[in-house]
Amino acid sequence: MAIKIAKNIYRLPTLGSFINSYALINDDSSITLVDCGLKGSSKKLIKDLARIGKHTNDVVNIVLTHAHDDHVGGAARMIKDCGVKNVMMHQEDSELPPTGKTPARDDSRLSGKIMKLLPERSYEPFAITKKLKDGEIINTAGGLKVIHTPGHTDGHISLLHLESETLITGDSIFNMTSRMTWALSGFCVNYKQSQDTAKKFLDLDFKNACFTHGPEIRDSGKSRIKQFLSKKGIY
Ligand SMILES: [Zn+2]
Repeated sequence: MAIKIAKNIYRLPTLGSFINSYALINDDSSITLVDCGLKGSSKKLIKDLARIGKHTNDVVNIVLTHAHDDHVGGAARMIKDCGVKNVMMHQEDSELPPTGKTPARDDSRLSGKIMKLLPERSYEPFAITKKLKDGEIINTAGGLKVIHTPGHTDGHISLLHLESETLITGDSIFNMTSRMTWALSGFCVNYKQSQDTAKKFLDLDFKNACFTHGPEIRDSGKSRIKQFLSKKGIY
């Protein structure tokens, strides 16, 4: 079920609200998709796009927040099914998708050490056609600004949809069960850096906060994130 956040931006839940993708509608009514969920999510995404009157050939861009399998797992299939030509990711994660590998984990922490013992979660490889940089504005849906928020992974990005004043945090901040938390430390490359870089959100103009993991916060998104960062001693 696609959920309208604001004009030209929809949340597409692929595993309840636990894993979300986002669809942005461009001026020419084509679609930019943000993240592709786990392997096997493409069917769900295509069905949800149909519910908002969009079809596979409408998807022209895919922007990926980082190279974890719950964000890129469905990408290879979506690229094939929709014939997507533009696949974008921050330059520092961009070497991973062609290998199907996920980034290293923070083994300075116990959970990271434990996670390192588990088999790596791979995904079907695919190519990145455009490497993104911090501050760059992707020419889509009235402008989508790249906010480099490393720590969760080296090339982790958050995205600001300028027109609707909506921030997509990616995995910088979770909002599972409608309570903001950090990502699990074991899934981060550098847990401390992931927290520190979330401070960047305070310099941005937005009212809606959207998350990969959890439902959105409308209107009061920025003040709620400010409260969260203050509670965590980050700000
Ligand atoms: Zn992640």
